[in-house]
Amino acid sequence: MKAVVLENKGVITYKDVPTPEPHPGHVRLKVKAVSICGSDIKRYISGHRMYPLILGHESAGIIDRVGDGVNEDYVGKHAAVIPLVPCFECEQCQRGYYSACHNYSFIGSRQSGCFAEFVDLPEKNIFPVPEKLPFEYVAMIEPSTVARHMLALGDFKSGQTAIVLGAGSIGLMVVQWLRILGAKLIVVTDISEDNLKIASKLGAHATINPSQVNVEKELQKLVGDGADLTLEATGVPQVLEQTLSVTRPRGRVVLAGNQPLDKSLPLAFIENMMRREISLIGCFMSYSAPFPGHEWTETIDALLNGSLDIDTIISHRYPLSKAPDVFEEIGAHQLTHQKIILNPEEAA
Ligand SMILES: [Zn+2]
Ligand SMILES: [Zn+2]
Repeated sequence: MKAVVLENKGVITYKDVPTPEPHPGHVRLKVKAVSICGSDIKRYISGHRMYPLILGHESAGIIDRVGDGVNEDYVGKHAAVIPLVPCFECEQCQRGYYSACHNYSFIGSRQSGCFAEFVDLPEKNIFPVPEKLPFEYVAMIEPSTVARHMLALGDFKSGQTAIVLGAGSIGLMVVQWLRILGAKLIVVTDISEDNLKIASKLGAHATINPSQVNVEKELQKLVGDGADLTLEATGVPQVLEQTLSVTRPRGRVVLAGNQPLDKSLPLAFIENMMRREISLIGCFMSYSAPFPGHEWTETIDALLNGSLDIDTIISHRYPLSKAPDVFEEIGAHQLTHQKIILNPEEAA
Protein backbone atom coordinates (compact mmCIF):
# COMPACT_ATOMS: atom_id res chain seq x y z
CA MET A 1 0.00 0.00 0.00
CA LYS A 2 0.98 3.65 -0.25
CA ALA A 3 1.73 5.60 2.91
CA VAL A 4 3.24 8.89 4.05
CA VAL A 5 6.26 8.15 6.21
CA LEU A 6 8.20 10.48 8.50
CA GLU A 7 11.78 9.32 7.84
CA ASN A 8 13.61 11.90 9.92
CA LYS A 9 13.26 15.44 11.21
CA GLY A 10 11.96 17.44 8.23
CA VAL A 11 12.00 14.40 5.92
CA ILE A 12 8.69 12.92 4.83
CA THR A 13 8.05 10.61 1.88
CA TYR A 14 5.15 9.02 0.02
CA LYS A 15 6.03 5.44 -0.73
CA ASP A 16 5.13 1.74 -0.82
CA VAL A 17 5.06 -0.03 2.53
CA PRO A 18 3.74 -3.50 3.46
CA THR A 19 -0.04 -3.59 3.74
CA PRO A 20 -0.95 -4.46 7.35
CA GLU A 21 -2.97 -7.58 8.19
CA PRO A 22 -5.21 -7.26 11.25
CA HIS A 23 -3.69 -8.83 14.37
CA PRO A 24 -5.85 -11.00 16.65
CA GLY A 25 -8.30 -8.68 18.43
CA HIS A 26 -7.70 -5.99 15.81
CA VAL A 27 -9.50 -4.65 12.76
CA ARG A 28 -8.14 -3.19 9.55
CA LEU A 29 -9.54 0.16 8.49
CA LYS A 30 -9.48 1.26 4.86
CA VAL A 31 -8.71 4.95 5.32
CA LYS A 32 -11.14 7.25 3.49
CA ALA A 33 -10.13 10.62 4.98
CA VAL A 34 -7.44 11.81 7.36
CA SER A 35 -6.81 15.30 8.66
CA ILE A 36 -3.42 16.88 9.39
CA CYS A 37 -3.08 17.73 13.10
CA GLY A 38 -0.83 20.45 14.50
CA SER A 39 1.01 17.64 16.30
CA ASP A 40 1.79 15.94 12.95
CA ILE A 41 3.30 19.22 11.77
CA LYS A 42 5.29 19.52 15.00
CA ARG A 43 6.64 15.98 14.59
CA TYR A 44 7.74 16.87 11.07
CA ILE A 45 9.32 20.24 11.93
CA SER A 46 10.83 19.50 15.36
CA GLY A 47 11.51 15.79 15.01
CA HIS A 48 10.02 12.77 16.73
CA ARG A 49 11.00 9.95 19.07
CA MET A 50 10.93 7.21 16.42
CA TYR A 51 11.57 6.74 12.69
CA PRO A 52 10.31 5.64 10.31
CA LEU A 53 6.73 6.42 11.29
CA ILE A 54 3.45 6.68 9.39
CA LEU A 55 1.87 9.84 10.86
CA GLY A 56 -1.83 10.71 11.15
CA HIS A 57 -4.49 10.09 13.78
CA GLU A 58 -7.56 12.21 12.88
CA SER A 59 -9.08 9.68 10.59
CA ALA A 60 -12.15 7.93 9.20
CA GLY A 61 -12.71 4.88 7.07
CA ILE A 62 -14.42 1.57 6.48
CA ILE A 63 -13.49 -1.62 8.33
CA ASP A 64 -12.44 -4.07 5.62
CA ARG A 65 -11.00 -7.00 7.59
CA VAL A 66 -11.03 -8.31 11.14
CA GLY A 67 -8.45 -10.35 13.05
CA ASP A 68 -9.04 -13.50 15.06
CA GLY A 69 -11.56 -13.10 17.85
CA VAL A 70 -13.27 -10.06 16.35
CA ASN A 71 -16.89 -10.18 15.19
CA GLU A 72 -17.13 -10.40 11.35
CA ASP A 73 -20.12 -8.05 11.49
CA TYR A 74 -17.66 -5.15 11.79
CA VAL A 75 -16.67 -5.58 8.15
CA GLY A 76 -18.18 -2.79 6.06
CA LYS A 77 -18.88 -0.55 9.06
CA HIS A 78 -17.85 3.11 8.95
CA ALA A 79 -15.71 4.25 11.84
CA ALA A 80 -13.58 7.01 13.29
CA VAL A 81 -10.13 6.20 14.70
CA ILE A 82 -9.69 6.57 18.47
CA PRO A 83 -5.93 7.27 18.52
CA LEU A 84 -5.10 6.67 22.20
CA VAL A 85 -4.32 3.02 22.98
CA PRO A 86 -4.43 2.75 26.77
CA CYS A 87 -3.45 -0.42 28.66
CA PHE A 88 -6.85 -0.46 30.46
CA GLU A 89 -5.09 -2.06 33.45
CA CYS A 90 -2.87 0.47 35.24
CA GLU A 91 -3.93 2.63 38.18
CA GLN A 92 -4.94 5.59 35.98
CA CYS A 93 -6.81 3.45 33.45
CA GLN A 94 -8.75 1.94 36.35
CA ARG A 95 -9.72 5.48 37.33
CA GLY A 96 -10.80 6.23 33.76
CA TYR A 97 -7.95 8.75 33.30
CA TYR A 98 -6.86 7.06 30.10
CA SER A 99 -4.63 9.87 28.82
CA ALA A 100 -2.52 9.44 32.00
CA CYS A 101 -2.06 5.70 31.30
CA HIS A 102 1.33 4.41 32.50
CA ASN A 103 1.80 2.32 29.40
CA TYR A 104 -0.07 3.78 26.45
CA SER A 105 0.47 3.76 22.73
CA PHE A 106 -0.86 6.26 20.22
CA ILE A 107 -1.84 5.74 16.60
CA GLY A 108 0.38 7.89 14.37
CA SER A 109 2.89 8.72 17.11
CA ARG A 110 4.00 5.54 18.89
CA GLN A 111 2.71 3.12 16.25
CA SER A 112 1.73 3.31 12.56
CA GLY A 113 -0.87 5.94 11.81
CA CYS A 114 -3.46 6.80 9.21
CA PHE A 115 -1.57 8.63 6.45
CA ALA A 116 -1.92 5.37 4.57
CA GLU A 117 -4.38 3.30 2.58
CA PHE A 118 -4.93 0.94 5.52
CA VAL A 119 -4.32 0.99 9.25
CA ASP A 120 -4.39 -1.89 11.75
CA LEU A 121 -6.22 -0.95 14.97
CA PRO A 122 -7.19 -2.67 18.22
CA GLU A 123 -10.94 -3.31 18.25
CA LYS A 124 -11.33 -0.83 21.13
CA ASN A 125 -9.82 1.90 18.93
CA ILE A 126 -12.60 2.00 16.39
CA PHE A 127 -15.55 4.29 16.98
CA PRO A 128 -18.41 3.12 14.73
CA VAL A 129 -20.38 5.96 13.16
CA PRO A 130 -23.60 6.22 11.13
CA GLU A 131 -22.98 5.72 7.41
CA LYS A 132 -24.68 8.95 6.46
CA LEU A 133 -21.91 11.08 7.98
CA PRO A 134 -19.34 12.18 5.35
CA PHE A 135 -15.87 10.74 6.02
CA GLU A 136 -14.42 14.26 6.30
CA TYR A 137 -16.75 14.95 9.20
CA VAL A 138 -15.85 11.65 10.83
CA ALA A 139 -12.13 12.49 10.52
CA MET A 140 -12.81 15.68 12.49
CA ILE A 141 -14.39 13.89 15.44
CA GLU A 142 -11.07 13.59 17.29
CA PRO A 143 -10.16 17.31 17.21
CA SER A 144 -13.74 18.10 18.26
CA THR A 145 -13.42 15.80 21.27
CA VAL A 146 -10.33 17.69 22.47
CA ALA A 147 -12.33 20.93 22.52
CA ARG A 148 -15.28 19.27 24.25
CA HIS A 149 -12.89 17.79 26.83
CA MET A 150 -11.43 21.25 27.56
CA LEU A 151 -14.90 22.53 28.45
CA ALA A 152 -15.58 19.47 30.59
CA LEU A 153 -12.33 20.00 32.50
CA GLY A 154 -13.18 23.70 32.92
CA ASP A 155 -16.60 22.70 34.30
CA PHE A 156 -18.24 25.02 31.79
CA LYS A 157 -21.91 25.79 32.46
CA SER A 158 -24.54 27.25 30.14
CA GLY A 159 -24.86 31.01 30.67
CA GLN A 160 -21.18 31.55 31.50
CA THR A 161 -18.79 33.88 29.73
CA ALA A 162 -15.68 32.53 28.01
CA ILE A 163 -12.59 33.79 26.26
CA VAL A 164 -10.82 31.62 23.72
CA LEU A 165 -7.17 32.54 23.18
CA GLY A 166 -6.24 31.37 19.69
CA ALA A 167 -8.56 30.63 16.75
CA GLY A 168 -6.60 27.75 15.25
CA SER A 169 -8.25 24.40 14.70
CA ILE A 170 -8.74 23.59 18.40
CA GLY A 171 -9.78 27.16 19.26
CA LEU A 172 -12.42 27.12 16.52
CA MET A 173 -13.77 23.80 17.80
CA VAL A 174 -13.90 25.30 21.31
CA VAL A 175 -15.89 28.26 19.98
CA GLN A 176 -18.40 25.85 18.47
CA TRP A 177 -18.78 23.83 21.67
CA LEU A 178 -19.25 27.02 23.70
CA ARG A 179 -22.02 28.00 21.30
CA ILE A 180 -23.60 24.53 21.40
CA LEU A 181 -23.48 24.40 25.21
CA GLY A 182 -25.01 27.87 25.61
CA ALA A 183 -22.28 30.36 26.49
CA LYS A 184 -23.62 33.83 27.27
CA LEU A 185 -20.61 35.51 25.73
CA ILE A 186 -17.80 34.08 23.59
CA VAL A 187 -14.77 36.30 23.01
CA VAL A 188 -11.95 35.11 20.74
CA THR A 189 -8.45 36.47 20.26
CA ASP A 190 -6.08 35.76 17.39
CA ILE A 191 -3.48 37.70 15.42
CA SER A 192 -5.01 36.51 12.13
CA GLU A 193 -8.01 38.48 10.88
CA ASP A 194 -8.97 35.49 8.71
CA ASN A 195 -9.11 33.22 11.76
CA LEU A 196 -11.18 35.81 13.64
CA LYS A 197 -13.65 36.02 10.76
CA ILE A 198 -14.11 32.26 10.87
CA ALA A 199 -14.51 32.41 14.66
CA SER A 200 -17.32 34.96 14.23
CA LYS A 201 -19.02 32.75 11.69
CA LEU A 202 -18.81 29.79 14.08
CA GLY A 203 -20.36 31.64 17.02
CA ALA A 204 -17.94 34.15 18.59
CA HIS A 205 -19.82 37.23 19.82
CA ALA A 206 -16.72 39.41 19.86
CA THR A 207 -13.20 39.10 18.47
CA ILE A 208 -10.00 40.85 19.51
CA ASN A 209 -6.78 41.09 17.52
CA PRO A 210 -3.88 41.48 20.01
CA SER A 211 -1.63 42.83 17.26
CA GLN A 212 -3.96 45.82 16.91
CA VAL A 213 -5.47 46.53 20.35
CA ASN A 214 -4.86 45.87 24.04
CA VAL A 215 -6.64 42.62 24.89
CA GLU A 216 -7.11 43.36 28.60
CA LYS A 217 -8.66 46.77 27.90
CA GLU A 218 -10.97 45.47 25.19
CA LEU A 219 -12.02 42.56 27.33
CA GLN A 220 -12.75 44.83 30.28
CA LYS A 221 -15.35 46.63 28.17
CA LEU A 222 -17.01 43.28 27.43
CA VAL A 223 -16.76 41.32 30.71
CA GLY A 224 -15.49 43.70 33.40
CA ASP A 225 -13.22 41.74 35.71
CA GLY A 226 -12.73 38.87 33.29
CA ALA A 227 -14.35 35.78 31.84
CA ASP A 228 -15.70 32.85 33.88
CA LEU A 229 -13.62 30.50 31.78
CA THR A 230 -10.49 31.07 29.71
CA LEU A 231 -9.28 28.54 27.15
CA GLU A 232 -5.65 28.75 26.03
CA ALA A 233 -5.16 27.22 22.60
CA THR A 234 -2.09 28.98 21.22
CA GLY A 235 0.93 27.51 23.00
CA VAL A 236 2.51 30.99 22.99
CA PRO A 237 4.20 31.94 26.33
CA GLN A 238 3.04 35.59 26.21
CA VAL A 239 -0.53 34.41 25.73
CA LEU A 240 -0.20 31.96 28.60
CA GLU A 241 0.95 34.82 30.80
CA GLN A 242 -2.13 36.79 29.79
CA THR A 243 -4.61 34.09 30.82
CA LEU A 244 -4.92 35.33 34.42
CA SER A 245 -5.65 38.97 33.66
CA VAL A 246 -8.51 38.03 31.32
CA THR A 247 -10.09 35.64 33.85
CA ARG A 248 -12.32 36.81 36.71
CA PRO A 249 -11.36 36.05 40.32
CA ARG A 250 -12.26 32.40 41.15
CA GLY A 251 -12.51 31.75 37.40
CA ARG A 252 -10.89 28.85 35.58
CA VAL A 253 -8.19 28.62 32.94
CA VAL A 254 -7.84 25.49 30.82
CA LEU A 255 -4.50 25.05 29.08
CA ALA A 256 -4.30 23.04 25.86
CA GLY A 257 -1.62 24.80 23.79
CA ASN A 258 1.75 23.03 23.79
CA GLN A 259 4.28 25.55 25.09
CA PRO A 260 7.93 25.71 23.98
CA LEU A 261 9.85 23.78 26.65
CA ASP A 262 12.87 26.08 26.57
CA LYS A 263 10.89 29.10 27.87
CA SER A 264 9.98 30.00 31.44
CA LEU A 265 7.43 32.17 33.24
CA PRO A 266 8.13 34.70 36.03
CA LEU A 267 6.74 33.55 39.40
CA ALA A 268 4.60 36.70 39.41
CA PHE A 269 2.30 34.48 37.39
CA ILE A 270 1.71 32.24 40.41
CA GLU A 271 1.30 35.29 42.65
CA ASN A 272 -1.44 36.59 40.30
CA MET A 273 -3.07 33.19 40.23
CA MET A 274 -3.15 33.05 44.03
CA ARG A 275 -4.44 36.57 44.51
CA ARG A 276 -7.31 36.02 42.09
CA GLU A 277 -7.88 32.45 43.34
CA ILE A 278 -7.90 31.23 39.77
CA SER A 279 -7.82 27.51 38.93
CA LEU A 280 -5.30 26.50 36.28
CA ILE A 281 -6.33 23.26 34.62
CA GLY A 282 -4.24 21.15 32.27
CA CYS A 283 -5.78 19.35 29.31
CA PHE A 284 -4.20 16.40 27.52
CA MET A 285 -6.15 14.62 24.78
CA SER A 286 -9.87 13.98 25.07
CA TYR A 287 -10.82 10.88 27.04
CA SER A 288 -13.12 9.99 29.92
CA ALA A 289 -14.80 6.84 31.22
CA PRO A 290 -16.38 4.81 29.79
CA PHE A 291 -13.74 4.81 27.02
CA PRO A 292 -13.47 6.82 24.84
CA GLY A 293 -15.92 9.10 26.68
CA HIS A 294 -18.91 11.42 26.42
CA GLU A 295 -16.75 13.79 24.34
CA TRP A 296 -16.99 11.26 21.51
CA THR A 297 -20.68 10.43 21.73
CA GLU A 298 -21.62 14.11 22.06
CA THR A 299 -19.59 14.93 18.94
CA ILE A 300 -21.54 12.34 16.94
CA ASP A 301 -24.81 13.87 18.17
CA ALA A 302 -23.60 17.36 17.21
CA LEU A 303 -22.60 16.16 13.73
CA LEU A 304 -25.93 14.40 13.22
CA ASN A 305 -28.03 17.38 14.30
CA GLY A 306 -25.90 19.81 12.29
CA SER A 307 -24.76 21.97 15.20
CA LEU A 308 -21.05 21.28 14.61
CA ASP A 309 -19.92 23.09 11.45
CA ILE A 310 -17.11 21.15 9.79
CA ASP A 311 -17.30 22.63 6.28
CA THR A 312 -16.18 26.05 7.52
CA ILE A 313 -13.03 24.76 9.19
CA ILE A 314 -11.76 22.62 6.30
CA SER A 315 -9.60 24.88 4.14
CA HIS A 316 -7.83 22.37 1.86
CA ARG A 317 -8.24 18.89 0.42
CA TYR A 318 -5.41 16.95 -1.22
CA PRO A 319 -4.72 13.41 -2.37
CA LEU A 320 -2.48 11.58 0.10
CA SER A 321 0.33 11.54 -2.45
CA LYS A 322 0.65 15.32 -2.12
CA ALA A 323 1.31 15.15 1.64
CA PRO A 324 5.12 15.62 1.38
CA ASP A 325 4.62 18.85 -0.65
CA VAL A 326 1.94 20.04 1.76
CA PHE A 327 4.19 19.49 4.80
CA GLU A 328 7.05 21.25 3.06
CA GLU A 329 4.86 24.27 2.31
CA ILE A 330 3.56 24.37 5.88
CA GLY A 331 7.12 24.09 7.22
CA ALA A 332 8.16 27.03 5.03
CA HIS A 333 5.09 29.04 6.19
CA GLN A 334 3.86 29.16 2.61
CA LEU A 335 0.45 27.62 3.24
CA THR A 336 -2.14 29.51 5.26
CA HIS A 337 -4.56 26.85 6.34
CA GLN A 338 -7.22 25.62 8.71
CA LYS A 339 -7.89 21.89 8.62
CA ILE A 340 -6.39 19.98 5.71
CA ILE A 341 -7.97 16.71 4.59
CA LEU A 342 -5.88 14.04 2.84
CA ASN A 343 -7.63 11.43 0.77
CA PRO A 344 -5.84 8.13 0.13
CA GLU A 345 -8.22 7.05 -2.65
CA GLU A 346 -7.16 9.81 -4.99
CA ALA A 347 -3.53 8.77 -4.62
CA ALA A 348 -1.71 8.73 -7.91
ZN1 LIG B 1 -4.53 15.69 16.79
ZN1 LIG C 1 -3.12 2.20 31.60
